[in-house]
Amino acid sequence: MNHVIPVPPQPTVPVLGGGLFPVRRIYCVGRNYAEHAQEMGFTGREPPFFFLKPADTVLPVADGVIGEMAYPPLTANLHHEIELVVAIGIGGRNIKAADAVRHIWGYAVGLDMTRRDLQNDMKKQGRPWSIGKAFDESAPIGPLHAIGRTGELNRGAITLSVNGAQRQSGDLSDLIWNVAETIETLSNAWTLQAGDLIFTGTPSGVGAVVPGDLLEGRIEGLGSLQLRIKQG
Ligand code: MN
Repeated sequence: MNHVIPVPPQPTVPVLGGGLFPVRRIYCVGRNYAEHAQEMGFTGREPPFFFLKPADTVLPVADGVIGEMAYPPLTANLHHEIELVVAIGIGGRNIKAADAVRHIWGYAVGLDMTRRDLQNDMKKQGRPWSIGKAFDESAPIGPLHAIGRTGELNRGAITLSVNGAQRQSGDLSDLIWNVAETIETLSNAWTLQAGDLIFTGTPSGVGAVVPGDLLEGRIEGLGSLQLRIKQG
């Protein structure tokens, strides 16, 4: 080893019951629930698509703890997107949907936090979304649950409340591309590796949060993720 600067820390996500999952890449699926695509101004019939966040945007929140996220700079419209996160344990390319489940290490509740005003500016100009999606702490995530404990998750309620009032509500069975199809489609474009996380898309009801707000995301079988927005 002869690194010329200190090696940056390896981002990790705690596993429920102990251990750490090292994060390699974060893939995100856009417009994977029809009603959310419609609220964003689309028909809900276009195929979903992908974007990425850097691995070090994860903001791990331990089980039973209220995490803290600093309100990020340059935005006046920070949005919540509750999402099922799939952790890849065995990599591969050109994975068939029928074989996808054996590549899954586990699942978590995640938030694809979005600077919606910046994302919308970039969309209008036909520019990349990175500044709206891939900023520091933009991927809060609860503990990973091993698939051996949860079984394969293909249905179940996915909800998000802010200060106790429900904002988002859907069911995993409403995904346009289910998890297996997402893994197949992703692995045709990139070689998936152990350590990859996939944020699978958000149901309708996205909206803004401000400092002081308490978010609680829930997915049936995975418990909850609690996050307080702090002054930036
Ligand atoms: Mn999203």
